Amino acid sequence: MNSVFGSDYREIEETTNGIVFNIEHFHVHDGEGIRTNVFLKGCNLHCPWCCNPESISPDPQIAFYKKFCTGCGKCQNICPQHCIEITGDGKSRTDRSRCIACGACEKVCPHGARELFGHRMNVAEVMEDVEKDSFYFMNSDGGMTLSGGETCLQPEFARALIEAAHRRYIPVALETAGAVRWENLWKVAELADEILFDLKTTKTEHFAQVGNIFLKKVLNNLHNLTVNGKIITVRCPIIPNFNDTAEHLENVAKIATDFGIKKIDLLPFHQFGRHKYEAIERAYCLKEYPEMEHSKVEAMADCLRKRGFQVSVGG
Ligand code: SF4
Ligand code: SF4
Repeated sequence: MNSVFGSDYREIEETTNGIVFNIEHFHVHDGEGIRTNVFLKGCNLHCPWCCNPESISPDPQIAFYKKFCTGCGKCQNICPQHCIEITGDGKSRTDRSRCIACGACEKVCPHGARELFGHRMNVAEVMEDVEKDSFYFMNSDGGMTLSGGETCLQPEFARALIEAAHRRYIPVALETAGAVRWENLWKVAELADEILFDLKTTKTEHFAQVGNIFLKKVLNNLHNLTVNGKIITVRCPIIPNFNDTAEHLENVAKIATDFGIKKIDLLPFHQFGRHKYEAIERAYCLKEYPEMEHSKVEAMADCLRKRGFQVSVGG
């Protein structure tokens, strides 16, 4: 572990910061054992199936859950930007062009109708929360998982979080889609104990639908991680009528074999994030899309298992 030891590490942890949109405890799919997932905000891909749409913008943003709003007006009274009004249907409405994401309305809303996604946190603050689970990490070989968003878009912060975790003897899994410059990917991945590499699709023309980056570059990054000795799980979202095909499965198996990767996670498309699109007023083109049938994904997993891969479904 290439950690920064020394008397000044506290100052480093208190002065290095980034935007976090969630910290979730007791995950079991995102790395070994019991995990605490730290979600970093900001993503450079635009996968239409994203179940964390609040992760996409790099900036904090306010979400509004209309069904919980009673129109009490407390948010309107506190808003320093005067950008909230109570409309004719007895609900509040926010002029997002003037909102500065201060979070004041979230604090006063008595019904949980408002939620601020994204808080600037320093490394010490994140670790204070993560460390609460140290007992569970020790007893399950678990640890912290950095997720997103794209973790490597905040490379200094992500690296500092890994260093801080290692100072506390907490292992770290890093989730990334690898669609970033190698320098930034390696700045973070170098220290991670395991990598969860999200391989969105294996067809060049499909990849153009999720990002302004070439699949070839992503695969080069994946290859570079393997030649640098990183422990990698390839994670593949399985989307109906997009990549739920034998051809895709074959491509995944070939890439994993060529790169010496043994572990594959298949992530069936679901609709759990649907309500968040509405809450942040982001268009969602897969609103009516069918969820991926688990039996079909299990059959895909079995095909890979028969070829010697360690496969899990979900995550
Ligand atoms: S986050 Fe702040 S600026 Fe935005 S609507 Fe709420 S109170 Fe107003
Ligand atoms: S404080 Fe909450 S419940 Fe009251 S108007 Fe605002 S969003 Fe609605």
